[in-house]
Amino acid sequence: MDKLDIAIIGAGVIGLAIACELALKTNKTLAVIDSSRRFGQGVSSRNSQVIHSGVYYAPEMLKSILCIKGNRLLYKFCEKNRIHHQRCGK
Ligand SMILES: Cc1cc2nc3c(=O)[nH]c(=O)nc-3n(C[C@H](O)[C@H](O)[C@H](O)COP(=O)(O)OP(=O)(O)OC[C@H]3O[C@@H](n4cnc5c(N)ncnc54)[C@H](O)[C@@H]3O)c2cc1C
Repeated sequence: MDKLDIAIIGAGVIGLAIACELALKTNKTLAVIDSSRRFGQGVSSRNSQVIHSGVYYAPEMLKSILCIKGNRLLYKFCEKNRIHHQRCGK
């Protein structure tokens, strides 16, 4: 490949999610570049695996709004792609 339209630096959950969306929704050529030998070697592989519900933030905060939106999207993504998850109510 001589030329890329998009280079995404960092193959953590954020870089991979952006790459997935762009690959599915555009015709752009893209590459995900990481300084590690494999993807997901940063913080993304060391978190607590909680799908947060936004209860820690004031309702009007952007962080809270995005957290609630992300919560719904993530459950939907897991269900659609048959990724094991639990709705434990935390
Ligand atoms: C202890 C802990 C627990 C957490 N628990 C949760 C949780 O339960 N639920 C939740 O939703 N979130 C949790 N988080 C937050 C969540 O894990 C992070 O917000 C998320 O993983 C960040 O993803 P990222 O893709 O931005 O970063 P990363 O996963 O760190 O990915 C960044 C990538 O960029 C690469 N990189 C960096 N610099 C360069 C460079 N110069 N050139 C090339 N590549 C480079 C790295 O190698 C890495 O692969 C937790 C965080 C921590 C620290």
